[in-house]
Amino acid sequence: VNAISYTPNLRDIEFVLFEQLSLSELLGKPPYQHVARDDLRMVLEYGASFASDVIAPSNAEGDRTGCVWQAGRVTVPRVFEPVWAALQEQGWMGLVGAPEFGGQGLPRMIGTAIDEMFIAANPAFHTYFALGRAAANLLIHHGRDEDRRIFAPKILSGEWQGTMCLTEAGAGSDVGASTTRALPAGDGSYLISGTKVFITAGEHQMTANHVHLVLARLPDSPPGVKGLSLFLVPKLRVNASGEITEPNDVYCSKIESKMGIHGSATTVLNFGDNGRCQGFLVGEANQGIRCMFEMMNEARIIVGLQGQALAAAMYANAVKFAQERIQGSDIAQGKRITQAKVPIIRHPDVRRMLMTVRALAEGGRALLYYTSAQVDRALAARDPEVRARHEALVGLLTPICKAWASEAGVEACSQALQVYGGSGFVSDYPAEQYLRDSRISPIYEGTNGIQAIDLLFRKVLGNPAHMQEFSRQFSDWMQTRGRSRTLAPEIEILAASERRLQQATDALAERARQDAEMAALGAYPYLIMFGNLAVAWLLLDQAAIADANLAGELGAEDRRFFESKIAVARFFAHHILSQNHWRAAQVGAEDRSALDICL
Ligand SMILES: Cc1cc2nc3c(=O)[nH]c(=O)nc-3n(C[C@H](O)[C@H](O)[C@H](O)COP(=O)(O)OP(=O)(O)OC[C@H]3O[C@@H](n4cnc5c(N)ncnc54)[C@H](O)[C@@H]3O)c2cc1C
Repeated sequence: VNAISYTPNLRDIEFVLFEQLSLSELLGKPPYQHVARDDLRMVLEYGASFASDVIAPSNAEGDRTGCVWQAGRVTVPRVFEPVWAALQEQGWMGLVGAPEFGGQGLPRMIGTAIDEMFIAANPAFHTYFALGRAAANLLIHHGRDEDRRIFAPKILSGEWQGTMCLTEAGAGSDVGASTTRALPAGDGSYLISGTKVFITAGEHQMTANHVHLVLARLPDSPPGVKGLSLFLVPKLRVNASGEITEPNDVYCSKIESKMGIHGSATTVLNFGDNGRCQGFLVGEANQGIRCMFEMMNEARIIVGLQGQALAAAMYANAVKFAQERIQGSDIAQGKRITQAKVPIIRHPDVRRMLMTVRALAEGGRALLYYTSAQVDRALAARDPEVRARHEALVGLLTPICKAWASEAGVEACSQALQVYGGSGFVSDYPAEQYLRDSRISPIYEGTNGIQAIDLLFRKVLGNPAHMQEFSRQFSDWMQTRGRSRTLAPEIEILAASERRLQQATDALAERARQDAEMAALGAYPYLIMFGNLAVAWLLLDQAAIADANLAGELGAEDRRFFESKIAVARFFAHHILSQNHWRAAQVGAEDRSALDICL
């Protein structure tokens, strides 16, 4: 049985938060007037040890045990139970939630850092945590008074589980095709009927109740997404004082057997088989998708983090393996049979793989934390124009966070597995589990193909303010840290790549006017190009900060850290950003064969 060990890279996490993204600037002022830097350091340290000592030991066993369905009840791995209890006791779910509802009101950036550590420690377990929190936040923003008073705090404390129910057998990416119905019951509530599939955490033994947020259609509502409303549907009914009363006609009829995240229950939920499933409208009628989008945007960052976190965890494991495994001799010494055998970390090709994993992990961290920083800065902004600018970046970068980082996660886990050779493929080592667990992230929360379409058509072509803000930030940077002499060759590659992205954007805009199919064909390579550029930029920003630090007096450990930041940024620019040449060719190709061929 594999021993998964996980020690978070707190040095890099704190560097990104405090030195790159200047998190301290936001403290002591609304909405973070009650937060001090030392408190945040402590939260990060506690979070890191909770991740390594409490969550990570449940990972391999949870994968092996998986979830069991019996007569409508689901048992998730027993090893999760004490971890959930500890999570509840320590209040981790309320970290960024509003203080009025039991939360601690910390910046989103800190929530993101804690999420990275918890996901890396056990991605399947984290799904319960993430969905509950997102459901509670949605109720706080859009729910009725009693939803805020009764349901949100119980979910945020971990006593009850929140879920997100969109998908149906005939409505996946096309959520507007949903057929679940809601009939007014005459007493202000609704009778819900329909079947939702693939619902994460839809049923399990860790919480006393479940609170499902369900998209359903009212009678006479328009077709498509504009006719969907959102309903709160408890598994067990609850009275006005918040006590559980009786079952609410919600039945879990199946769980999926799947490739990875075995400890995460993926359920089929039947609502109202007996005509007595009670639901309550959340927000306004026919506005369900708008409310849900808020929850989905939060969830998209989390899914990107899944890719990044698994990459980071696998890097640490793979480096350790490569330092210990002896095989072959040093290529620099020529081929002599008598030559001493070396650890595989000495082989250039192994170093290429390890650096790829590391650059994807640290680059993903930079992108995801930067996007979370924009959320915090939008919340803190007094000036509506400044707020709108931060929000534009969040809107633009969210599909990139989701899709780029989840693809990078799969690639990184696959490369890390390769470092282990045959041992990577067998379950004595953690690599095969990480690769299996990483593969869901490009799929759920809107497939990466759907993210690419969202980025190109809605975010870039649909609203020029998004791209204008990105370009403004980029050119401001070129005038400041972008003038670094040490990094001049890499910054030149970056600048050329930015021009290439602008050309690709113009070409796709033109194409979209003439031939939507051809534009859509270029959407995915365009998203990857954009992600590579944004990540290279943020890594070079880190390298410029590191370079400035290296000019001063430093201890050996700090010196090594800053030198490694420069090396990772350089590697990314030369070995990964260079992909944008062929990505640009792919975007610009006049070739229609994929559309014209009879497949
Ligand atoms: C483990 C797991 C957990 C999940 N958890 C939840 C959950 O908690 N709640 C929930 O509601 N759902 C959940 N889902 C569902 C998930 O979000 C969907 O599976 C996903 O959105 C894709 O829908 P689909 O499976 O129907 O695939 P489809 O929509 O049939 O897509 C199949 C392929 O076609 C492509 N495609 C489809 N339409 C288009 C289009 N218009 N343009 C371009 N390409 C397109 C897709 O990109 C994909 O490659 C979960 C799924 C899994 C596997």
